[in-house]
Amino acid sequence: MAAPAAVEGVAVTALRSVFLRVRQAAERAGTQTERVRVVAVSKTKPVSLIRQVYDAGHRCFGENYVQEIVEKAPQLPEDIEWHFIGHLQSNKAKTLLGGVPNLAFFHGVDNEKIANHLDRAVSGLGRNPLKIFVQVNTSGEASKSGIDPSDCVHLAEYVKSHCPNLLFSGLMTIGMRDYTSTPENFKTLSNCRLEVCKALGMAEDECELSMGMSGDFEQAIEMGSTNVRIGSTIFGPREYAKKPQN
Ligand SMILES: *Cc1c(COP(=O)(O)O)cnc(C)c1O
Repeated sequence: MAAPAAVEGVAVTALRSVFLRVRQAAERAGTQTERVRVVAVSKTKPVSLIRQVYDAGHRCFGENYVQEIVEKAPQLPEDIEWHFIGHLQSNKAKTLLGGVPNLAFFHGVDNEKIANHLDRAVSGLGRNPLKIFVQVNTSGEASKSGIDPSDCVHLAEYVKSHCPNLLFSGLMTIGMRDYTSTPENFKTLSNCRLEVCKALGMAEDECELSMGMSGDFEQAIEMGSTNVRIGSTIFGPREYAKKPQN
């Protein structure tokens, strides 16, 4: 009897299939696949599973609970590019930055206060600037974090002029949960980019877009996204036994 073939972990298989779909969506959009960053969102998932995906060559991971990322990051290799993707209470900025030296991106700056706290935390640590995305609430849902689209220029300008330790890198949004208005939400974010680029004199490719999750990442790429945040399609459904608060 032949020895069974090595079984690749399901998350790694799923990641490969995500990359295939990303490539196809990028082709349809007429963009290069390399311009789309796949953030593997590992919240609620064990370090061992992240490690499998890391060992398969992936380096870009996202988390959105402070307590969880500061616990997991030190158990994983330093060359991971960590993304924090969501709302953060300003008094947790220091904990986050201090606990995750290799935090590369923060998707979710939605007011001046959090920008100031992040800026100070980066400065206090003397680390390299933190790349940030300004979060825009494009669906109008009260439950969602993010600034009103009409305020995006102001907040982007604020970060650029008042936060020397932050690097304004673009705009982020979360589409509506039932996906009914996804194209509208993504269009709104793309319009925000036009305004920001015009007001701040930036080229369009200097202002990235972070939009698209498991259910709508292909559509997001077709509409110009350069950062897709994909969790359950890679790691399987999440288990919320205990949901820490940010
Ligand atoms: C959890 C989360 C994701 C990933 O969601 P999936 O639908 O599982 O891909 C993306 N973005 C943010 C902000 C999240 O909190």
